[in-house]
Amino acid sequence: MLTDDETTDSLPRTATLKNKELEEVQETMRAAFLPGNSTVEIREVPVPRPSHGEVLIAVRASTICGSDIRAIYHEHLGKGPEGYQGVIAGHEPSGIIVAAGPGCRRFKPGDRVIVYHISGCGVCNDCRRGYMISCTSAEYRRAYGWQRDGGMAEYLLAEEKDLIHLPDSLTYLDGALIACGFGTAYEALQKIGIDGGHAVLITGLGPVGLAAGVLCRKLGAETIIGVDISSERRELALNLGICDVAIAAGTDNVAKIRELTRGNGVERAVECSANAEARSTAIRATRKWGKIVMVGEGGTVTFNPSPDIIHDQKTIYGSWVTSTWLMEDLVERLVRWELHPEDIVTHRFALDRAGEAYSLMASGRCGKVAVCPTAE
Ligand SMILES: [Zn+2]
Ligand SMILES: [Zn+2]
Repeated sequence: MLTDDETTDSLPRTATLKNKELEEVQETMRAAFLPGNSTVEIREVPVPRPSHGEVLIAVRASTICGSDIRAIYHEHLGKGPEGYQGVIAGHEPSGIIVAAGPGCRRFKPGDRVIVYHISGCGVCNDCRRGYMISCTSAEYRRAYGWQRDGGMAEYLLAEEKDLIHLPDSLTYLDGALIACGFGTAYEALQKIGIDGGHAVLITGLGPVGLAAGVLCRKLGAETIIGVDISSERRELALNLGICDVAIAAGTDNVAKIRELTRGNGVERAVECSANAEARSTAIRATRKWGKIVMVGEGGTVTFNPSPDIIHDQKTIYGSWVTSTWLMEDLVERLVRWELHPEDIVTHRFALDRAGEAYSLMASGRCGKVAVCPTAE
């Protein structure tokens, strides 16, 4: 057995680098908190030090999620996995490791990384499948930015097992988008399968819907139809070439989508809006034998099982975030496809202006919004 001071190859072991690197890290840092009254508080807090199996990351990009707005920013509404415990905000971080505690097995200072945003117990069945999002341990499941400190700070303490390697050809902003939105979209598309014979409907063109569109394009979808209430988001989806058609949300949506698909409906639908009407549109505008995946969180839906799904042999899937292994697969694909998730970022802010970033995201008049705490 090797001790931390020995080397297995040309790379120095982390413990040797740890102290040297840590000397260069400041004592305190700025960090953003969400008090729950539609404001952001920037506080000066101590920089944490990594212990066994942990790393300290200098955060380079941290993006804002729809769930941050829905469950934390306006009011602390989240329960269970979405319960916000007054920690540093932000669950979509990417950065560079500046120090590693003892016992790290793969990652070391200097590595660029994405943080999978839920730290699970590591030993329940869901964690063993890589789905730490579904970790069943009430004691150990803690999501970054919800129950443990997140990425809206200059530094972030993370567990090594939650890290995904970020290749040099992807940017830190790409990494932040993969950490939640793109990972979530990729998982949903894997569940329903997308190919060149498919017309795809995406209801809700927020960051996850846009990510789904970008990935559907690469997976070969023949036609991509988007629906959103916001004209800014429809325009963005068209300007970026993510959707072929973008329709304003309304009562005529099912008829319009059928018209666009020679009366058939779409083969696949990805529901990212959480809106009840849009959900029933996604179900009803899908053709016989089609598949629908529900990604948008919260709210309800009403549909008539016999005409809407049973007689047409349709399948509805639920999809919650993704696994660490599928996130790694996505990273590999993005490199091969030369695809940059950051293309859907419309606004970037320094950490001191995080308040403006959250307020813009809450308005919905934007694509993805990013905060870059320690930009180079
Ligand atoms: Zn998210
Ligand atoms: Zn677990």
